[in-house]
Amino acid sequence: MAKIFCVANQKGGVGKTTTTVNLAAGLAKVGQRVLMVDLDPQGNATMGSGVDKRSLALSVYDVLLESASVAEAAVPAGQCGYAVLGANRELAGAEVELVELERREKRLKAALAAVDADYDFVLIDCPPSLSLLTLNGLCSAHGVVVPMQCEYFALEGLTDLVNTIKQVHANLNPDLRIIGLLRVMFDPRITLQQQVSEQLKGHFGDKVFNTVIPRNVRLAEAPSYGLPGVVFDAGARGSKAFVEFAHEMVERAKKM
Ligand code: ADP
Ligand code: MG
Repeated sequence: MAKIFCVANQKGGVGKTTTTVNLAAGLAKVGQRVLMVDLDPQGNATMGSGVDKRSLALSVYDVLLESASVAEAAVPAGQCGYAVLGANRELAGAEVELVELERREKRLKAALAAVDADYDFVLIDCPPSLSLLTLNGLCSAHGVVVPMQCEYFALEGLTDLVNTIKQVHANLNPDLRIIGLLRVMFDPRITLQQQVSEQLKGHFGDKVFNTVIPRNVRLAEAPSYGLPGVVFDAGARGSKAFVEFAHEMVERAKKM
């Protein structure tokens, strides 16, 4: 049975896509069968996996509108070792089209059920909003991975997300929980980041992943080559951290 995780945070630019593609590549590297689902109309996770969003014959849009199955629409992410259910601008329209339809927040969940035996992990990259697309992600998932930067308003910024997760848990998806908070773009030389990191641990305890992802320019460069950092430069500090994170996820998943 596949473990399905959403990578979510309603803020943009916090490292969701970087986390999704590098965790996908890291999990693939340690022998897991992975499907990466791009739920952001920007299609960054698709492009960052080496799949051209403009030339997708079928995408997550078709899956949400039930005109294609996941098996039909997923494509291999070249040398990355995982499969991609891609997204492009078309997906922005799905938001509007779905509002009219039945079971609108459970479409992805239903579609993923058909490929449950084909993957060990399904990772869903969410857009920076608490929209119907994100809701489809949250309704499909066993848990949420929240990447965050250790900045001054970090804890406050989490309140909306935590409340949304509670509501989805109560009303739509009793399986849903926060798997963990991942500290990303971390710079230990910055005292404030260390302080916020300590606050986070004080507040969320072992919901904070042990692995810390450092700020690392190779991770930022990789998308322009259409690759996750883990594949682009396996020796980079950031890439090693994501492989370590993949190991931590495999261990956490065993306990679920
Ligand atoms: P989101 O998906 O939440 O909008 P991204 O993953 O696209 O965020 O990251 C935002 C920007 O920060 C991108 O330019 C990305 O390359 C960069 N970035 C993300 N993580 C790191 C990191 N650990 N070190 C350096 N740059 C990073
Ligand atoms: Mg993104």
